[in-house]
Amino acid sequence: MSIMRGTWPRSCWYSVGLILVFNSLFLALVLLKPGTPHQFVVSDDVGQALGWLLATLLCFVGLTKPGPRTRSHVDSILTTPLQRWIPILLAAGIFCQFIGQVVYTYLDARNMVDFPSLADVGYLSTFPFLFLGIMLLPTRPLSGFTRARVFLDGFIVITAAVTFSWFFVLGPTMLQKSGSVLSTIVGSAYPFFDLVLIFCVIQLSFPSSDPVLQPAIRLLSLSFIVIVITDSIYDYLTLQGIYHSGLQDIGWPIGYTLLGLAAQALNLARTREMPDSEAEPGKKYSRDAIIAASTGLRALLPYALIPAVIALTFFTWRKGVDVSLARGVYFGEIALIGLVLLRQFFTIRETIYYNKQLRQVQQEVHSKNQALSEANKQLEEQATQIAAAYEQERHVNELKDLFLANVNHELRTPLTAVHGYLELLQEYQGQLDAPSEANFINLAVQGCDELQQLVSNVLDAIQGDSQGKAPQIEALPVAGVVEEVINLFEPQKRQEYHVEVNIPGTLAVMADRQHLHQVLLNLLSNAFKYAPKDTTVALSAQLRDIPEGEGQQVCLCVQDAGVGIPPAEIPVLFGKFVRLRRDVVGPVGGTGLGLYICKQLVEPMGGRIWVESSGIVGEGSRFYFTLPAAPDISRQSERAGQERVTLAYEG
Ligand code: ADP
Repeated sequence: MSIMRGTWPRSCWYSVGLILVFNSLFLALVLLKPGTPHQFVVSDDVGQALGWLLATLLCFVGLTKPGPRTRSHVDSILTTPLQRWIPILLAAGIFCQFIGQVVYTYLDARNMVDFPSLADVGYLSTFPFLFLGIMLLPTRPLSGFTRARVFLDGFIVITAAVTFSWFFVLGPTMLQKSGSVLSTIVGSAYPFFDLVLIFCVIQLSFPSSDPVLQPAIRLLSLSFIVIVITDSIYDYLTLQGIYHSGLQDIGWPIGYTLLGLAAQALNLARTREMPDSEAEPGKKYSRDAIIAASTGLRALLPYALIPAVIALTFFTWRKGVDVSLARGVYFGEIALIGLVLLRQFFTIRETIYYNKQLRQVQQEVHSKNQALSEANKQLEEQATQIAAAYEQERHVNELKDLFLANVNHELRTPLTAVHGYLELLQEYQGQLDAPSEANFINLAVQGCDELQQLVSNVLDAIQGDSQGKAPQIEALPVAGVVEEVINLFEPQKRQEYHVEVNIPGTLAVMADRQHLHQVLLNLLSNAFKYAPKDTTVALSAQLRDIPEGEGQQVCLCVQDAGVGIPPAEIPVLFGKFVRLRRDVVGPVGGTGLGLYICKQLVEPMGGRIWVESSGIVGEGSRFYFTLPAAPDISRQSERAGQERVTLAYEG
């Protein structure tokens, strides 16, 4: 149950009810004044004593054993062991008042009242306990300027109160000629202690205490104000010699029972579980409270008494009162003016200080916002990357499916052909004429070659993915290697095309022989596959300077005059399992691995591969790839001029 949120436990409401009933009865007593005057005075005394006893008892409602911290008190507001004694100190203070009143009642009943008497010992003992209790209340740290300003506020109020007290109570009491020294001291102690209580109220109104304690603190302040007012009226009436028991006495039971209720509220706050935001009592600035206190009507409170002091000064000056009293009032007035000026100075400094803090906080918020937006950007980038990775994964899966379907189809075609021709040879063994037999055997071998090529392509692609064997680089004559590769094709195939080779005889590259073979083989077989018969397939090579100045490169080109490649599909052509849409559904078979393998082989040798094509039927395509030129031979070639090997494989 939280007293912060305005929901008081039932015990509190019972206490409030009890206080109301008691004070109503007391009010009835002082208004009706039953019995003889003496009987009324005694019953007034008894009523007050009962009020103090009730207030003492209220302090113990909800009180748990003070002493070492128990588990449930770990998060309590009143953290130090001493602070846990505050309600008991308040109870002790009220109880002293009760004792004093019992003695006073006894003396009053016997008409033995004297001043000072033993009762004053009880009454005056009250104040140290109350003062100690208030001083032990927890506070929160405040900034230097705020502390100075709050201190000055208190000082202004106390100076005004002292000035008034000096004029009306303290001064006359101290200056009175009649009575002993002891009676003067004891008599002055009361208004002095009332000033101490005013100081306590100021201390309580500091915006530095924990918000959880606010209800208790408000009750404490209220009770002290009521007590001080009642005391002051009593002192004044006594000084004037016109005091009689009566209505003004109601102030004491009201003030002290409220004090008891405040102690009860403190007991509640003590055992209250701390919300997270307030987990560190006393450790942080109570900014809201400070701001509330430094703005609006509350900020004007310290000035409220100043007009009254000015009026008092004016009155003192005009009426011509006792010199000592008048001097005290003038002194108080001057001190007040000085304090107000000083307060103004600290208020300005405080405003500057908080403005600076505000700017700092704004900057912090700004940089945090920036960090947040950067983090957001990063998150967005990551999300895009994840989406791309997902897309890639999906694409790879699609390719896998495509590959399986393709390989299945591509393997079956030559396998069926081989199987078919071998079956024919087996069935008609000895019956076939020699040319037919040779033709069937030839076709079966051709099927086997196709199968071999297909399997090796698949293996190359897989190998390229997994280990990527390092190429064995050596200087190779380009024309020689090209010739070897062309000769790998059957003469019949070569005869179906006009194969032209235009390569300088001394041109050499730094490459892996097998890799170069494979690349040329793939490009040439593609040209034979995708270009119609009786068209030209041209192979050329030339030296090129590369812009970075890292030596020279040889650029080889395989050109055909086929259907070409649509430019839109060129960027993806060297990917794994990529076939042109046209060929996926067309009659020419393939796995979409040949060009991918070429790229995997050319790049580790320090080269690059690409294709140029307009996509117009008949204009064909030009596949280029570069390789580092072999230094010595290229220099020779420069010296010897462009001695070219021009070959035509026809007929
Ligand atoms: P495959 O020929 O086994 O399908 P490649 O990787 O060698 O695989 O070729 C990929 C695709 O590029 C081919 O399917 C074909 O569509 C297209 N292509 C390759 N070379 C040529 C060419 N010379 N002319 C037209 N299209 C070609």
